[in-house]
Amino acid sequence: MNIVNEFIKQCDKEIKKKRTIYWDENTVYSIRENPADSFAGLWFRTQGCSHDRSGGCVMCDYSIGPITSGDMMIEYVKQGLSEIKNSYDTFLISPSGSMLDHKEVPAEARQKIFNLLAKTNHRSFTFETRIDTINEEVIKEAKSIFGDKLNKIFVGIESKSNFINKYCINKGITLEQITRSIEILHKYDIVPVGNILAGIPLLTYQESIDICRETIKWCSENKVKPAIFVTHVKDNTMLKKIYEMGLCDEPNLWLLIELLLQLPENINPDICWYRTYDAFNLIKAADTCPKCYHKVLDALDQYTQYKDKDILRRLDCDCRLQWKEALNKKKNNLPDRIVHTYCQLSKNIFGEEYWIKYGNAIEKMIYDDYSVEVG
Ligand code: SF4
Ligand SMILES: [Zn+2]
Repeated sequence: MNIVNEFIKQCDKEIKKKRTIYWDENTVYSIRENPADSFAGLWFRTQGCSHDRSGGCVMCDYSIGPITSGDMMIEYVKQGLSEIKNSYDTFLISPSGSMLDHKEVPAEARQKIFNLLAKTNHRSFTFETRIDTINEEVIKEAKSIFGDKLNKIFVGIESKSNFINKYCINKGITLEQITRSIEILHKYDIVPVGNILAGIPLLTYQESIDICRETIKWCSENKVKPAIFVTHVKDNTMLKKIYEMGLCDEPNLWLLIELLLQLPENINPDICWYRTYDAFNLIKAADTCPKCYHKVLDALDQYTQYKDKDILRRLDCDCRLQWKEALNKKKNNLPDRIVHTYCQLSKNIFGEEYWIKYGNAIEKMIYDDYSVEVG
């Protein structure tokens, strides 16, 4: 399957023309220290994820910055490091996208940043990077600098379905690429942590749960540590547009809870971003009703600590029952739903003419790829 989704790319670029920008002359790095988990993260300014700049993922606005040279990045990392006084078990270093993407972080800057980190007293290092930025050469280089202190790398898998990753996310990677990259990581004794999306745009709640479960299973068969990321609606994204046009369901925390409960009892993946941490440009958080929201967040904190699903089973609120009703609601099938959404989006973003001109070809591609997906 050709994984490039030109339609989403064009929509995303159009929507992001008016985006608000987080990084500027005064915001050049950002630090999060969490002593309770012995974790610290340092994010530094770049021009942003190169996939985003060419029309990126439907739900993501990791934001962009002005032109930023490799030397500037090194300087921002130095400034950030000088502010962090403690040493931590895990230290995450992150640009606004992918650490190993030379289009975002030039190779020379990457090496110098890694060398700066390796001289600190933190006990292990990690970063996020797109699957398609991983090759043997860069991993070998990172390992030669960090040695055993580089023991895990976060990669965006989202789902194990090429069709869903192409048409609901525009991830721009295939399962075959994912498989190749994780083999490289294993070869260098690095655990791949696979980010999986709970609440994929355009899927029903149940479809989302089903593909998450299948992806988690795939992860355990392929020695990938799964990490479940909750979808929120962010400004400047296609998801916001789809959400505002009433073309997708509300993000909801019961989806995450139902997913965890539908997994085998001994499977307890890490869960991330169920809290919003005052995230930049949040429009609609995955939440529950105001009556139980904080109770649910506390329960998820406890679940994270004790990995005890009974904590989640005990949660009780009317909104949980209402959500369960929505879970069982039938919708039209996935390719029809995608065609309908794309058609509405194209009219909204580009005007009536677009779908008249390109609609048939896009529809054909969706149905053809769907038949490949379902065999
Ligand atoms: S999810 Fe990752 S790859 Fe996709 S646009 Fe955001 S930063 Fe880029
Ligand atoms: Zn409630």
